[in-house]
Amino acid sequence: MSFDPKDPYDAAALYDMWLNCSRCPATFDFEPGGEVNLDYYHRIGQQARIENWAVLPARNHGEELVFNVLCPDCARRFGVDGCDGRMELAAPVIDQICQAMRDASEQAA
Ligand SMILES: [Zn+2]
Repeated sequence: MSFDPKDPYDAAALYDMWLNCSRCPATFDFEPGGEVNLDYYHRIGQQARIENWAVLPARNHGEELVFNVLCPDCARRFGVDGCDGRMELAAPVIDQICQAMRDASEQAA
């Protein structure tokens, strides 16, 4: 498995750089250091899924993509734990960031 732009967990990790609960100060532990690439965001996203974080993609303000990220405690409080949504389409902005990162890593190789 590799980075999936349609997976809201992967997409939120990429888009927000790391995952912060939108309702409390909880921050998902990300790995400091190491190579930051699409695999890295995929690892963070999938680890957050395993640890029962909730990622609810939403479109606000027209096409601007917003992720509501909830830590396991808040997800339970709001009754959205176990929500494992998939987006029908990768948001254009996620595709753009992916492409930019792929281009950058090809240049580095
Ligand atoms: Zn929280």
